Parts: sequence; structure tokens; C-alpha cells
Amino acid sequence: LGGSISKALQRMSNATIIDEKVLNECLNEITRALLQADVQFRMVADMQKNIKKVVNLDDLAAGHNKRRIIQQAVFNELCKMLDPGKPSFTPKKGKPSVIMFVGLQGSGKTTTCTKYAYYHQKKGWKPALVCADTFRAGAFDQLKQNATKAKIPFYGSYTESDPVKIAEEGVERFKKENCDLIIVDTSGRHKQEVALFEEMRQVSEATKPDLIIFVMDSSIGQAAFDQAQAFKQSVSVGAVIVTKMDGHAKGGGALSCCCYKKSCYIHWNWEHMDEFEVFDVKPFVSRLLGMGDWSGFMDKIHEVVPTDQQPELLQKLTEGSFTLRIMYEQFQNILKMGPIGQVFSMIPGFSSELMPKGREQESQAKIKRYMYMMDSMTNEELDSSNLKLMNDSRIMRIARGSGRPIVEVMEMLEEYKRLAKVWSKMKGLKIPKKGEMSAL
Ligand code: GDP
Ligand code: MG
Repeated sequence: LGGSISKALQRMSNATIIDEKVLNECLNEITRALLQADVQFRMVADMQKNIKKVVNLDDLAAGHNKRRIIQQAVFNELCKMLDPGKPSFTPKKGKPSVIMFVGLQGSGKTTTCTKYAYYHQKKGWKPALVCADTFRAGAFDQLKQNATKAKIPFYGSYTESDPVKIAEEGVERFKKENCDLIIVDTSGRHKQEVALFEEMRQVSEATKPDLIIFVMDSSIGQAAFDQAQAFKQSVSVGAVIVTKMDGHAKGGGALSCCCYKKSCYIHWNWEHMDEFEVFDVKPFVSRLLGMGDWSGFMDKIHEVVPTDQQPELLQKLTEGSFTLRIMYEQFQNILKMGPIGQVFSMIPGFSSELMPKGREQESQAKIKRYMYMMDSMTNEELDSSNLKLMNDSRIMRIARGSGRPIVEVMEMLEEYKRLAKVWSKMKGLKIPKKGEMSAL
């Protein structure tokens, strides 16, 4: 998507005169790219209208960078469309809240319920899970397994077939046990059936949830908008969780959730139990447009990386050949530049594990340890991007050489693997030159 949009903008900037026709062609191309990314048709049409309102060619004084103005307008419009505003309800620790999860079968409710509970448990909450899904065979077992693994109390039944009854009993019980986050997992169906919506309404009436979270599989594409609408009409959805963003989802489907507008907030969820990101509009739009936060990233690179090293680093970035040596060099830069992780924290997905916010000291120490270990590596090892090379005897040698435990060497290699994955996504990306994207 980002590629098509930047190409459209590029073509326009190559045109000597930017008139109505050139602008229209550019907007049409952007529209096509958004539609291909599964952004809902009506939304795209609205956006196009709004952009045309904002970008008035006659008003643009000569000398203005028109391409940048249009680019900015696209970015702003998408952000405006997606702005979730204030969350409709935020649970408070120590005060019992009932959260009900709804969504179609397979959308990720049960998985997400557990993650949501686990995420809060780690922050000192007392969550509990209620399985009100009597439709899917094995639903209770699945929730039980998840809950047991995460050590979260749960409630459900193998024999009772009335989801309303189970939900009511479970909520009652956990209220008595002073749980402050009582999560009700409900059943889904393969389709948006009348029966499902009726059941949702009944469970909702019986448990009086403080918040209903709609779980949506982001890979369903254009169908997302109608599905989100249908759920919204049946129960009062207060938040949305978009799942499976880690897969091949184009992401545009998730945009459709903005039909909830001011009444929701969105979480991301990824493969890991404790990675649960609160939705943030600007980085999301950047990601959708394939920009990452390139502007901030590039500014930081220009600021931090010594001038003579910049072209080389950028070359490496776009070639995607990420070796342990590059990781070492970047660690060096990171340690030099003061507030740690500023550069890489701007690339989505890069910093959450290596450099969590607020734990900079710890991260710095970790990076230093990684570098000690890498000091014990041979040139061959440093310049290889093939981890198969790192067999047991090499790992043992590095551990011995650096005086660090073997598990730590393995942890460092895991980190390398993770960064290499992020790095590989940059392969072939056109990285803007200094100033080029500063408006975004
Ligand atoms: P439910 O029917 O709505 O309760 O959905 P489940 O929680 O049972 O999830 C259905 C399937 O999707 C399971 O195999 C999950 O492991 C998988 N799943 C759920 N969330 C995600 C996600 O964010 N990413 C990926 N890759 N898989 C997910
Ligand atoms: Mg389920």
C-alpha cells in the first residue's frame, strides 16, 4: 500500500504543472491502493472528497511543495477517520468490572480474553474468566487450558447448556471473590446469525457488563465494516480488539472499526501473551501507508549516526542484510546517543522487548552484556546472517569467552533473530532523504 501511494505521489511530483487533472489522477491511484488494502469503499470515497476540499490548488502559493501538502492531507484524513477519541469505559483496579467479549467464531475471543486477563494480572489486577460459550465443542476446555496456564481463576460447565445461566453464575461468584476484572467469553457463530445476536443480548442483560469488547479478525478484509456495524447494532460495543495483525492482514480491514468512532479504543494483540498494545492512530496510519515513522527515524539517524556512516547504514538498511556486526554497531550508536532506543523505538515493533519504555537503565545494561558476548565472536560469526552457523560448541565458546551464561548467549541470538526480522521488512523500501517527509 505504502508503495503504491508513494509512487502516485512521486509521479505527481515529477509532473511540471500540478493541475486538477494531475491531482485527480494522483487521488485515484491513492484510492485504488486503499481499496486494495481492504479499506472500506465509502470511507475511501469520503476521504477523497475531504482531501480535495483541503487541497485547493488555486490557493497554493507558488513554491509550496504540493506533493507534501497532499501527502500530509492523506495522512491527516486517515488519522481523523480513525481517531478513536476517549475510551468509553476504563476499568478501575479494586472495583469489580464486568467485561464481555463478543465476535464471530474464530475471531480470537478466547485467546484475547486470556491475554487481556493476563496483561492486567501482571499489572496487579485480580482478573477472572467466565466461559459462556456453550456452542462450540471444547470451548470450556480451551478456556480452562488458557486460564490454567496463566494462573487465572475460571468458571464454566461441561453440562449446563444455557450460556446466560453460566455467565450469571460466574460473574456472581467472582464478584463475591473480590475479583476486579471479570471477563465473560461468549460464543460466536460462523455467520452473523440472529441466534447469536439474541444470545449476546441475553448474556449482556444478565451480566450487565461495564464494557463490551468486539473482537475482530483483521484478515477478513472488506467484510470487516459490515460485521462491525452488525455487532454495533446488537449490543453496545465500547471497545474493539483487532486480532491477527501479525499474519498477512493488509490492515485496511481494521480501519473499518472506525465506524465506532468516538466510542472505542483499540488494542493490538500479537503472538505473545503480554504484548498488548493500546491503539495509537498516528503510528498505525504510518504503518498502513508503509511509512513507519520514517520522518522521526531519519531525523534521528541524521542526528545520531556520524555523517560518514550514514550512507553506509542506509545502504545496509535497504539491502536488508542484517548481520550480528550491524547489530553490534547499532548497539554502539544507541549507547552513545543518550536516551536509549530513541532511534529504533520509532520503528513499529522494534523496541518493545529490547527497550521497553521506563526501563532504560536495564535495557542499557542488557545491551552492554550483549556486546560483551559479541566481543567473543569471530569475524566469520559477526558477518554471517545465517544463525545455523551458531552451533552448540560456538555458543559455549562465546559464553566462556565473555563469562556469561549460555542461556544469555542464546537470548542475544534470539534478539538478533527478532531484529533481523524487523530489518528484513525494510528491504527494498525507499527511505526518504532528510527533510523529505518532515511534514508527516
Ligand atoms: P474464538 O472462536 O473467537 O474464541 O477464537 P479463538 O480464540 O479460539 O481463536 C481462533 C484461532 O485464532 C486460534 O487458533 C488462535 O490461536 C488464533 N488467533 C487468535 N488471535 C490471534 C492473533 O492475534 N494472531 C494469530 N496469528 N492467531 C490468532
Ligand atoms: Mg472461543
